[in-house]
Formats: sequence, structure tokens, C-alpha cells
Amino acid sequence: MSKVVAQSEKTLLQRTERQLILWFAFALVIFAALLLGSIYYVLQNSLLQTSYQEVEREWQQKVPEALHILQEHDGESNTSSSSSSVDTAPEDVATWVFSAHGEVVRADYSLAHVTGSVKTLFQGASQYAKHPGPTIRWEIVSLRDANILLGIHPLYQKNTWVGTLISAYSLAAMQQTMHVFVTVDIELGLASLILIIILTFTLARRSLRPVRHALQRQRNFVNDAAHELRTPLTILRGNLELAHMESSPALMKEAIKLSLTDVDYISDVVSSLSTLARYGLQSGGMKVASVNVSEVLTRCVQDLTLFASQQGVSLEISMADSTAVIQGNAAQLRQLFVILLENAVKYNVPNGAVEVSVSKKGDFLHVSVQDHGIGIPADDLPHIFDRFYRGEQSRQEQSGSGIGLAIAEWIVENHNGRIEVFSESGKGSTFTVTLPLATP
Ligand code: ADP
Repeated sequence: MSKVVAQSEKTLLQRTERQLILWFAFALVIFAALLLGSIYYVLQNSLLQTSYQEVEREWQQKVPEALHILQEHDGESNTSSSSSSVDTAPEDVATWVFSAHGEVVRADYSLAHVTGSVKTLFQGASQYAKHPGPTIRWEIVSLRDANILLGIHPLYQKNTWVGTLISAYSLAAMQQTMHVFVTVDIELGLASLILIIILTFTLARRSLRPVRHALQRQRNFVNDAAHELRTPLTILRGNLELAHMESSPALMKEAIKLSLTDVDYISDVVSSLSTLARYGLQSGGMKVASVNVSEVLTRCVQDLTLFASQQGVSLEISMADSTAVIQGNAAQLRQLFVILLENAVKYNVPNGAVEVSVSKKGDFLHVSVQDHGIGIPADDLPHIFDRFYRGEQSRQEQSGSGIGLAIAEWIVENHNGRIEVFSESGKGSTFTVTLPLATP
């Protein structure tokens, strides 16, 4: 059995925000840890490389010396008077030379940065001298809490293994640098944690901003729609009550006729609303094909000729180019032109005219619908594309829902075009639609 829990918009947004914060924090913490971790790793490696180089530099001088000593030692051991040379002065790199038989032929007892003798260190390392392997080896050992790098260098003479040279280098300086870095790392980590907290909150808020706006728009839309339907419904109710109470059949008929007009208006508003809602959902996903705009426009003019003549208005169309083709949706374009033509007829004067023209300019097609009707007052002009906005005079003189131009604007935007209006109160209006032509 599945369970459905209804969530209010606010709860849903809060939950999404919490989830986003968690995800952003998780991603940022991982990022910061990886960054600091890799800096630590790179620094440690490069310090270790420097230590290897220190020892190798020492070997450039110590290896030939050791070979020489081993040769002498070999001669002395034949005369059975072998001895080992010992140095007690502290060295940056302390070196011991072992013969192939494991005897110590040269030894440094003191290493810089390490207190006390390093004799035990080398005695312990003598195991490496017995089987040093064919190539150089590195080991890190510890002596009285100090980390020491051991370089084990096998010594060959004429392809014969003659002994082993072991050098020790204190890693105290490297340990100190790493210690400082870890302290800084922890401080940086704490600072970045604070930064991460601030960042996650900001990022989550920012990411949700478009969703909040969309929800707000939707709320406004529902509010506007409810408001727009409330008035005609009240009028309808009044008319129906009148019909209900009326005993004279003629008056009852009149009240029912009025009610039917209201029903027509309400169904007009509802269909416009559903168009808007549908378009809002479809945004970006419309079916596109090559459309001959002049053909679509000619059909619209033909369809509206009867409506125009009933209003005493004539429709004239002039085409500078009837072949122009754009990439678009024919049904939407038809709706756009019907809205503009209907308005031009509706808001015209008796015996007025509507002039429609199509022309091409560069890569664009221009369609203009001009009337010489009531015009639009300058105060109304900035609002006529808003949903449900209706000019005062239009409200008094003509029926309408105030949604037409909002739909028209949406269609034009959907076709990457532009819609402009030039109008003067009492003189008429010209709506111009500019659409990009299809590239051949
Ligand atoms: P409706 O025509 O249903 O009121 P529209 O969205 O089509 O809604 O138009 C919004 C408003 O713009 C109209 O109410 C009217 O005031 C004004 N308007 C639109 N077209 C014209 C026009 N050709 N002449 C004068 N006013 C117009």
C-alpha cells in the first residue's frame, strides 16, 4: 500500500532547500578535503625529493672515496691489518661504508639535527649492507623519535659487488615544514568550513530563486483568473435569478439571452486561460516547420472578413513579398494574427479600415497591422501585454478578457521575434511583428 503525504508549497520549498544545502555542503567539503589533501601530498613528495637529492649530491663525492677505501681495505685485510676510519663530527649526511663481508670500513657517528650518536642506527642498518640488491634503495627509519632517510647504495667495481654505502639524512626539517603545513591546513579547513556554510546557504537560495518566481507567477495567474471570472459569474447569477423570478415569458427570454452572453464570455476566458496555461507548459517544445507567413495571414484575413464587415470595418492586405518563409508553428502564428486583426477591428471606428502589410527587411520579416480606431492612451501602453489588462475605454465599449496580447507576445517570443506597438489615443494603432526569416 503506498502512502501519499500532501505537502504545502512552503514545506516543499523548505525541504528542497534543506536537501540542496546538504548536497552543496557535501560537494564543497569533498572538494576542500581533496584540495587540501592533494596539496599535503604534493608538498610531502617534493620535500622528500629534495632530501633524496641532498643524499645523491653527497654520493657524488662519497662513492669514489668509498671505492678507494674498499680497495685499500682489501689490500690491508690481505695483510691482516685492516682498520675502519671513524668520524665523530656532526655531518649533514652521515655515511657508513661496509665491505662485501659486512665489515664497517668507514663510519660517521654524528648526524646534524639528531642528538646523540647514530651508531646504533647504522648497526641496525647493517642488514641492508649484506644484500643491498642491484640498485639504490631508500628507507625511512626512526631513531629516538626522529625520522631519518636512509639511502642504500651498492658499490660495484668491474661488475663485482665490493661493498655497500649507507647514508643517513635527517628529515627533521621536512617534518617541521609538514607540521607547520598541517597546522595551517587545519586553520584553513576551519575557515573553509565557515565559508562552505555561507556558500551552501547562498547557493541553495539562488538555485531556488527561479522556482520561487515560477510559483509566484503561477499564484498570480490563478489569482488573476479567479478575479477575472468572479465578475461575469456574479452577473450571470444575477441574470439567472431574474429569469427564475420573472413570470413574463418575454422578459424571462431576455434574461436567459443575457445569461447566454455571459456564458459565452466565461467560456472565452476559460479557453484563453487554458491556451496560456498550455503554452506556459509547452515553452520551448513547440513543433516547428517552414511556414509561409503571407499564406497564413491571407487565410486569417479571409476568415475575419465577415466579422469585420459586421462591425462595419474593411480589411486590406498588401504584400511586398508573398514568398517569405520562417521556421515556426503555423497554428500559433495563426492565433497571433487573429488576435491582432480582431483587436484592430474591435477597437476601430464605424466605416474604419484595417491595413495589413507584409515586407522583408534583411534577415527579418515584418508584419504590420494598422487601424485608425480609438488608439491606446499613453498610460495604458506599457500594460497592454500584461495578462487581463484592459484599457478603460475598451472595457466600456468592447467585450474581451485582456489575455489576447499576452498570448500574442508569448507566441512572438517563442518564435524569437519582437512585437511593438505605436499608438495615439483617438488616432489609431499599429502593431508590428518582426520575425527572423528561415535560413535557406
Ligand atoms: P482584450 O482585447 O480582450 O481586451 P487584449 O489583450 O487583446 O485583450 O488587449 C489588451 C488591451 O489592449 C485592450 O483591452 C485594449 O485596451 C488595448 N488594445 C489592444 N489592441 C488595440 C487596438 N488595436 N486599438 C486600441 N486598443 C487596443
